[in-house]
Amino acid sequence: MFDKTMTLKSADEIEILRENALIVSRTLAEVAKYIKPGVSTLTLDKIAEEYIRAEGAVPGFKGYRGFPATLCTSINEEVVHGIPGERVLKNGDIISIDCGCQKHGFFGDSAYTFPVGMVGDGVLMLLKRTRESLTKAIEAAVAGRRVGDISAAVQEYVEGFGYSVVRELVGHGIGRQLHEKPDVPNYGRKGSGIKMQPGLVICIEPMINMGTKSVLQDHDGWTIRTADRMPSAHYELTVVVQKERADVLSTFKYIEEILGPSSI
Ligand code: MG
Ligand code: MG
Repeated sequence: MFDKTMTLKSADEIEILRENALIVSRTLAEVAKYIKPGVSTLTLDKIAEEYIRAEGAVPGFKGYRGFPATLCTSINEEVVHGIPGERVLKNGDIISIDCGCQKHGFFGDSAYTFPVGMVGDGVLMLLKRTRESLTKAIEAAVAGRRVGDISAAVQEYVEGFGYSVVRELVGHGIGRQLHEKPDVPNYGRKGSGIKMQPGLVICIEPMINMGTKSVLQDHDGWTIRTADRMPSAHYELTVVVQKERADVLSTFKYIEEILGPSSI
């Protein structure tokens, strides 16, 4: 039965999506080599664009609803959708980098929050717990379970540490469109939402704030930042819902090879 709330992908489509997911995974690792105090976000953006094009893909975000760059670069209290520019990274910053690509008519989309130089323990813990909440979410992305199970897994985990979940932005299906149905919120009740079926491909992307859940949009029309200016973290992977366990298409392993064993 055709279900307008989600498009299930064929095995061939899943392999194209896997290729795209691995391109964005490797692009983030390439960018990771240059993340240090003194580098500008525009420099990181150029590195990403060159890498994506060398892979025979095109940037997935550039031109999307008018977004001007390859990466979203969001520093400290910026949650998502920061625009690369002349701003340089400082020791103690964190930077969330979201990267998209398009190849063979399908999209890839992945994000990771990087520490810059020496970052305080409290902020490192926010990164670690946000990353762990993504792992919990992926464990819930199983055929027969509901999208709300993913949402609740993230929310329960991070709120247990006193963090808060951004409401205005959510994960999503992915395929020939960057953002497809269903929405995958990072908050919600277990047992709610649509029942997931094998072949559903979704991006799960917890956006977790150290302080209040409230966010504001800048006058640039893009950058989202926390209302209390406390830090925010963002990690995103793409998974295919299958029986028993999800097939995870993107990976942080390339990033972690660059960051080394001290990475979270
Ligand atoms: Mg993304
Ligand atoms: Mg996404």
